Amino acid sequence: MANKQFKMTGKGSVAVHGGNEPDPKYAHLTPIYASSTFYFDTAQQGMERFAGSDKTQIYSRWGNPTHTVAEQKIAALEAHGLSNEKGEPLELKALLHASGQAAMTTLFMSNLSAGDVVLTHYSLYGGTQELLTKVLHENGILTIIADLRDPIKAEKAMQENPAIKMVHIETPANPTLQCIDLEMITNLARRYKLLVSVDNTFATPYLQQPFRYAVDFVFHSTTKFLNGHGTAIGGVLLGRDLSFMAGKAWKWYALLGGNANPFDAYLLTQGMKTLELRMDRHCSNAMAVAQYLEKHPAIEKVIYTGLKSHPDHAVAMKQMRHPGGMLSYELKGGVEAGKKFIDRLQLCTRAVSLGTVDTLISHPASMSHAGIPKAEREKYGITDGLIRMSVGIENIEDILEDLRQSLEG
Ligand SMILES: *Cc1c(COP(=O)(O)O)cnc(C)c1O
Repeated sequence: MANKQFKMTGKGSVAVHGGNEPDPKYAHLTPIYASSTFYFDTAQQGMERFAGSDKTQIYSRWGNPTHTVAEQKIAALEAHGLSNEKGEPLELKALLHASGQAAMTTLFMSNLSAGDVVLTHYSLYGGTQELLTKVLHENGILTIIADLRDPIKAEKAMQENPAIKMVHIETPANPTLQCIDLEMITNLARRYKLLVSVDNTFATPYLQQPFRYAVDFVFHSTTKFLNGHGTAIGGVLLGRDLSFMAGKAWKWYALLGGNANPFDAYLLTQGMKTLELRMDRHCSNAMAVAQYLEKHPAIEKVIYTGLKSHPDHAVAMKQMRHPGGMLSYELKGGVEAGKKFIDRLQLCTRAVSLGTVDTLISHPASMSHAGIPKAEREKYGITDGLIRMSVGIENIEDILEDLRQSLEG
């Protein structure tokens, strides 16, 4: 057990040691506490736990020691090196959920009620877009979409719609990798007294820390880069207002019932320990793939924030350590060429999802964004021939060879 007072300099160490708790049985790794409930020695002790003066857990839908370690590790990573308004080290609280969608539900339901409006942008994760426009819409919470990369359009939307309560952004966004300037958008949101939540799934806290800016909530689908090995679905909601997080957000989390399970939390904790190593490799491989495809005659265009041709290249470089492990590209020859290419792959995995150690290749128009009408998705840049790639940590020569033989075969 690392001493909690030890000041770790980098996220590699925080990923390994951050959030860990000593175990009463001296287990090196936090065990999987597969227990629905936790006993009391006395009625008095039970009362103290319910009153909150004794923090020992009570019932696993409300929290579990295996969840706690995963939550503390993510919170330590997102807060690392940042300070609060008083200049003290930033403290965050995280709630680990059964899925990203469950964490997103807690985020929206605990902050919004009928009549409130969410301001968001084009090109969101398909599930987020549908949650907003279908589920929340039916419950009277409306969504306004604007190009939030443009400060004039963003401010106009805020000015014209006093019912907006929250700005929800995804940067980089799925699958176009559009980036939103966190400094610009949080300055505007503060002026209009709006809450800001950021989906940081594509970047991870290693590449980008939204809490550096005036962001209220950070969301992750932990299914992706944080877990890294594709072993579990999960999601986390982090907030800087500790009393809100321990109060209403926790209450809604407990009542909506989207809690994680201890086995998935255990897998997530082990996966996160290699975050820095994996991300460095994902990013360097993605850059090499982008440069290779950019020059390939079968490719119409490559969308990667690390390339100068990406419209948000400067914003990505301003707020991210590296441009990330995700890229998209369009083949000459549209859908047919895309299908042939995908069928010829021999190393890369044909699958949706992202952030696993192996390279995943998918076709958003027919897969992740199939639920969104064609005209609408094209407006967001998701064309029929677009291929999305989550670049893995394999040896780069092998990834490039698989791409070459699939494009030229
Ligand atoms: C996967 C994903 C989600 C949803 O998370 P699940 O874990 O699948 O429920 C939300 N946002 C982004 C950016 C994602 O990639």
